[in-house]
Amino acid sequence: MAGRIRDDDIAEVREKARIDEVVSSYVALRNAGGGSQKGLCPFHDEKSPSFHVTPARQFFHCFGCGEGGDVFTFLMKIDGVTFIEAVERLADKYGVQLRREDGPGELQRPRGPSRSRLVEANRLAQEFYADALATPDALAARQFLGERGFDREAAETFGLGFAPRDGEALLEHLRHRGITDEESVAAGLVGTGQRGYYDRFRGRLLWPIRDSAGDTIGFGARRIFDDDRIEAKYLNTPETTLYKKSQVLYGIDLARREIAKASQAVVVEGYTDVMACHLAGVGTAVASCGTAFGDDHARVLRRFLHDHDEFRGEVIFTFDGDAAGQAAAIKTFKGDQNFVSQTYVAVEPDGLDPCDLRIQHGDAAVRELVARRVPLYRFVLDNVLSRYDLDRADARVDALREAAGLVVSIRDKSKVEQFTRELASTVGMDIDEVRTVLRRASGRGSRGQGTAPAPTTAERPARDAVPDLRDPRFAIERETLKLVLHLPALAGVAASDIDADDFTHPTYREVWEVIAKAGGPDAGALDPGWAARLRDTVTDAAVSSALSALAVEPILSAKEPETAYVHAHLYRLQELTALRRIAEVKGRLQRTNPVEHATEYNRMFGELVALEQHRRTLRDRTMGA
Ligand SMILES: [Zn+2]
Repeated sequence: MAGRIRDDDIAEVREKARIDEVVSSYVALRNAGGGSQKGLCPFHDEKSPSFHVTPARQFFHCFGCGEGGDVFTFLMKIDGVTFIEAVERLADKYGVQLRREDGPGELQRPRGPSRSRLVEANRLAQEFYADALATPDALAARQFLGERGFDREAAETFGLGFAPRDGEALLEHLRHRGITDEESVAAGLVGTGQRGYYDRFRGRLLWPIRDSAGDTIGFGARRIFDDDRIEAKYLNTPETTLYKKSQVLYGIDLARREIAKASQAVVVEGYTDVMACHLAGVGTAVASCGTAFGDDHARVLRRFLHDHDEFRGEVIFTFDGDAAGQAAAIKTFKGDQNFVSQTYVAVEPDGLDPCDLRIQHGDAAVRELVARRVPLYRFVLDNVLSRYDLDRADARVDALREAAGLVVSIRDKSKVEQFTRELASTVGMDIDEVRTVLRRASGRGSRGQGTAPAPTTAERPARDAVPDLRDPRFAIERETLKLVLHLPALAGVAASDIDADDFTHPTYREVWEVIAKAGGPDAGALDPGWAARLRDTVTDAAVSSALSALAVEPILSAKEPETAYVHAHLYRLQELTALRRIAEVKGRLQRTNPVEHATEYNRMFGELVALEQHRRTLRDRTMGA
């Protein structure tokens, strides 16, 4: 199917795929007033939400990092897909039939199979594997589940399956269902070797791994037969365009709503732990798949944690009580620098993971484990202090010195004070004494709290010398553009004399040029997707970002603006231009000798009178509008 997708089909997809609906499967959104919703930006780290979505104009914009655009831009950025893939995916989901025009469309074609084909291949594989779990060959897999307290219903809830030992069963099945071998390989389901294609998973118990929207994107596979030729206990889908292990969280499809509701996420270590938690009533459990929980996972989780401004979401890690578990906790603590949420640790004293805990002590014990969480810094601190004999004065100072290393690594000032107090009370020393030791200790190794790395925004070099768009000097320009973008139908005749020179900020000037080139506000009067369509014509990043910001930012007027309000802004903008010209002419008049250059002087004087007249007319219109 070559050719370019028709523009009106793209517009239809954009209209049907409500941007708030699409975004909210990645980001927890709440009402921000003025028809907008807001949440924590998935594209940069932040503590309070500056990521806005405005369904009426089909736009999102982050006032923190400047990312913005329409529903396609959002998917392209968050899932790393091409424009065509984003359109296809949403067309698929919202039932829009895409028609293609003949012509030079090949350039737009994505390389390799589309996302929707890979999702389809994974969906078919999941069904196939789930059916195979009921066959006699899968007895060992069913026994494995039974021994861990998972019945048939649980297996169905989580979509578990069994990969037949025959090396080509899935391959054949997918072929019959119209999946090409190329697609099977790209989906990570089938491998290629010297003897051709073969099923990647053979003779293993399988967990389908789903994205937050519930699409199966890969599998986790556990060894169950002793003669399995592959040693690894767990195998995972390799990296594909769908499956990125640094971001994938097992259970996110089931947990995301609970996580948003409870402002809490529980991070466990394995597939069976996620299952045990959910079945025990801890519906916020997720696990990383085949890799340690990292910064990217944290970023994914944070999107779903509701931000209540003051109270931030909790992330609870379950670690084993053993040395490895403690090491993992310390590693997490160091990574905590970028983790805005409050981080906790839930450790079972006997070292049982949630799955074993549920088998031995029941559902309530799993819930209690989570309820008994302690702050991560507390856990790490106890771990450090336990190595010292705190009855001896010199050991207390040594312990403090080691603990100081932890203190200086905390960026959040409010946490530092709390940490210091707890340290003093645990060690049994006076708080001022502890502060002195900490100050000295932190002065040695590092440059200390005061010189902590600057936030990334400060490190980022200024793009160029363009003034801040929010500078009060440009307030009228900003507001006028917002009104034109939000309410093009009201601009009418008042916009007809506006030109690019009415805008003094170069970016606003370019935004107006984009509007003018597209036929002016009148062209947008009847088109709800106007602003989004305008943005399609922009290639400059600064202009594009400004356009989405203007489309998303609420209008300053408390009530829904009327025509008069919009006109007042448009005339005022022109009046300001007149004032600038008047000042300019006055300056030139002053520098001109009326006797030596009489003609020139009189011409300028006439120009000044005309400008004053023009300004008064605009003034009257502004007032009368
Ligand atoms: Zn952002």
